[in-house]
This record gives sequence, structure tokens and C-alpha cells, in this order.
Amino acid sequence: MKILVINAGSSSLKYQLYDMTDESVLAAGRVERIGMDSSILVHEPHHTEEITEVSEILDHTTAIRKVLDKLTDAEVGVLKSTGEIDAVGHRVVHGGESFKNSVLVDSEVKSEIRRLFDLAPLHNPAHMMGIKAVEANMPNVPQSVVFDTAFHQTMPEKAYMYAIPKVLYKKHKIRRYGFHGTSHDYVSKRAAELMDRPIEELKIITCHIGNGASLTAVDGGISVDTSMGMTPLEGLMMGTRSGDLDPAVVPFTMMKEDLTVNEVNSMLNKHSGLLAISGVSSDMREITDGMEAGEPNSTLAFEMYTYRMRKYIGSYAAAMDGVDAIVFTAGVGENSVVIRQHVCEKLTFLGVEIDRELNKVRSKEPRRISTPNSKVDVFVIPTNEELMIARDTYRLVQQSKQS
Ligand code: ADP
Repeated sequence: MKILVINAGSSSLKYQLYDMTDESVLAAGRVERIGMDSSILVHEPHHTEEITEVSEILDHTTAIRKVLDKLTDAEVGVLKSTGEIDAVGHRVVHGGESFKNSVLVDSEVKSEIRRLFDLAPLHNPAHMMGIKAVEANMPNVPQSVVFDTAFHQTMPEKAYMYAIPKVLYKKHKIRRYGFHGTSHDYVSKRAAELMDRPIEELKIITCHIGNGASLTAVDGGISVDTSMGMTPLEGLMMGTRSGDLDPAVVPFTMMKEDLTVNEVNSMLNKHSGLLAISGVSSDMREITDGMEAGEPNSTLAFEMYTYRMRKYIGSYAAAMDGVDAIVFTAGVGENSVVIRQHVCEKLTFLGVEIDRELNKVRSKEPRRISTPNSKVDVFVIPTNEELMIARDTYRLVQQSKQS
């Protein structure tokens, strides 16, 4: 069975084509600048060099058509015809309380995703465009949706409720949802495999730190708490997002600076975090370079970032009454030796001990970086959300064939 995985954004679209017989990636790629002049399609077939093509791609339907053309192209294609694609799996950011698991797309599912536009105005409408674009190009192919929020639907009420008037939860569903769920789910399961122990008996803290960043407490294989909230703004300090702050800062700043709702939203989401404190960049590589060169603003940004991570790890160890493993993943977590070292070397109270040499190893493979004496296993595990989406889609399609 061949499955196309799509991650549609408002002006971009990423894809990966899987052969589920051995879970190999036949081709991957992305379309950027959809709806703008000079849209870019980058296609990376497994058997030959990647190609980049600039053309006019005005909407998602055209983008999908161009992707299908590339996948079936005589030279750079990997399929004889689009008929070989058995199903399409989509990443969807917000599933609200309606979706606790991945599902096959039908008209009810589409209506529900539309109802959730309010909760994820930047993401869900773009995902819906992706679903419609596939429908337009391949009307009979089953599609599934895999939600970033679904893994966290196991959180208990005490973790997901905010201490504000309950009517706001009843009327508007204001609560913690959490994100990056597919990634937290994947890396926690991989950690249990690497430890050769059933996940049901493990307490794992997963640190997905990329541009966006979240930590999750995974107890017995299920998410019991996570740092992102109703939106991906809460929690850790991120590239351009503030993470946690006193909520009173928002009305106070709006009043003092005469800001609108959109302006304050933009400030907290796009002009805060590492970028605001360093004054240089939202990219951890540049922050680390600045710190190593003794630049004070980058040093402060780095220290705030790692300090906040340690506080979250400590609080999740307390929430679960223990921790067996800590996992680092995503752009910063997989690549930054110095972030892992700074976070882990001040967790001695938990008995964390990392091996500095193992921590320096660069590899695409999952690996343990803690010493044999460490009371907590520490891993670097490259995330693979696309594979999880392909697996869920495969399972759902198989199930639907049997029923
Ligand atoms: P996204 O949240 O957009 O999916 P990624 O998980 O791809 O992001 O992470 C991207 C971030 O990873 C970059 O902004 C950069 O800060 C960070 N990053 C990538 N490589 C390194 C590295 N070698 N050292 C530190 N940070 C890195």
C-alpha cells in the first residue's frame, strides 16, 4: 500500500510518499509560496537528485496536481500512475475535544474541522484546503486526518482546566489542548523500545524543541500534562513566541502601548521569545554562537531558555512522581549539543548524568546520551511525524476494508 502524507499550510505544502510494505519513503518534497508569484516546488525522489521548479501555483488544488505530476513523471517520478496511491494522510493541528484519535475523512469530519477554525485560525483552514485539493485531484482516494492535539486528549481535568470562570470552558472550550502530539507519541514509544521495557510502566518526559517547543509528561504511554495550552503560545520560551507570562501583562501592555488584539497577538507570537531577548535571531544556532562569543543578549536568551526547560522538567517529574527517561527531539533537541548539556547538567537532583562524549555524537539514529550510572535515561530521538501519519492512515484504511 502506498500512502501520501500531506502537511498543508496557508501558502505551503509538504509531502512524503510511503511504501508501507517496508515503510520506505519513495519521494518527498514541498511547495512554497502558493498563491504568490514564483511559487517553488522542490521534489526529492529517493532514486535521484532533488529538483526545484519555479512556476505559478495559485492555489492548493494546483499545488497537489503539480505534486502528482512530479510523482508520476517519466524521469523524476516514482509511480506509473496516481492510481497507485491508496490513501492520503493529512496533518491537522487542532482536533479540539472532538478528535481523540485519527479518523478517515467524511463530511461530518470536515464539518467538525471547520467548527474548530476558531481555535486554530492559522492552521485548520489551510489543512482543509489541503483536503479539498486532494479531493479535487483524486476524488475516490480515502483520506485520513491525524491531529496534533489527539495524543493529549488523555490529560486529566486537573491538568487541562484553566482556573478561570467555568462558563468560558462551557461556551468557548477554553482549556489546555497541547500540540506536537504525534511527535510526543512517537518519541515516547521509541524510548520505551530502546529501554526494552513496556511503556505502561514508564514515566517519560518528552522535549519537542524546534521553532515551536513543548514538553510532555507521558505516564504509562499516555499524555498526562503538556506545556502548550489552548494555543501553541503557552509554555516554554520559543523562537519567536513568549511562552508563559503573567496574563496581566497582556491588558497592561495593550493599555500602555495602545495595542489592538491583533497587535498584541502578533507581539507575543512573532516578536517575542529568543528573537526579542537576543535582538538578533530566533534561530538557536545564532543564539549559541552569540553566547559563545560572549554577547550578553544572546547569553541571556540562552539562559532563560534552558532555565525554563529545566523548571518544566522538574515540574513534570513532580507531576508524575518520578521520571525514568527524558527524550530530546525536533530541530533544537536533535541538533544542539550545548542545549542538551546545559539542561541536563543541572538536573543532578533527579540523578540525571549525561555522557558529554555521547552527547556530542552527530547522527540521524536514535541514541542514549546518559551514562550507565544515570538514574534517568536520556535519549536523542529524531522525530518522525510523517511516518506516524502514514501508519495511522494505513491502519484506518485496513480497518475500513475489513468492516
Ligand atoms: P519547526 O518547529 O518549524 O518544525 P524544527 O523542528 O525544524 O522547527 O526546528 C527548527 C529549529 O531548529 C531552527 O530554528 C534552529 O533554531 C534549530 N536548529 C537546527 N539545527 C540546529 C543546531 N545545529 N543547533 C541548534 N539549533 C538548531
